[in-house]
Amino acid sequence: MPVRNETSTRFIDEVRIISQWTYVVAFLSYPVAAAAVVFTTLTDKSGDHFHKLPVLVPLAIMGGTALACYILLIGYVNSDAGRRGMSRLGWTLLAIFIPHALGIVLYFVLRKPLTSNCPQCTAVVEPSFGFCPRCQCRLNATCPQCRRSVHAADKFCPYCGRGLGAVANEGVNNEGRSAP
Ligand SMILES: [Zn+2]
Ligand SMILES: [Zn+2]
Repeated sequence: MPVRNETSTRFIDEVRIISQWTYVVAFLSYPVAAAAVVFTTLTDKSGDHFHKLPVLVPLAIMGGTALACYILLIGYVNSDAGRRGMSRLGWTLLAIFIPHALGIVLYFVLRKPLTSNCPQCTAVVEPSFGFCPRCQCRLNATCPQCRRSVHAADKFCPYCGRGLGAVANEGVNNEGRSAP
């Protein structure tokens, strides 16, 4: 897989795809946890209604946080499945209803590689593609010698050392037509 300079911003970018309503729903975990504490305290039959609070409050904060994280993960699955061309509804339901978060684990194991669209013909293309398989539009600069992805501004291939002075033109003329 080509290595690019995007790793540092990747996590932030991943978090950004979670929709705002997911954050709203996730935040509701705390009122729900607080309500559970109030309910437990009021229905305590032991007479002293408040003696369990020092245990219940931290427990509720932890439980609320865990629930919020779970909801955010489901929101992530929902958004991420869409941009990978997978069923958003199907995977969201699996993430919610398979117990012990196994649906979420399953999603991360089985999810397809991230795809994007060709800027010219909008065909679905994978990030490792150098050219669009449908219209031959150049997607990423590739080294003419080792065919790995390079940055358009690179002067030399970081993998094989070949000079890339005219990589854009050479790429199209020499390997564009033979690219799979
Ligand atoms: Zn195309
Ligand atoms: Zn190379």
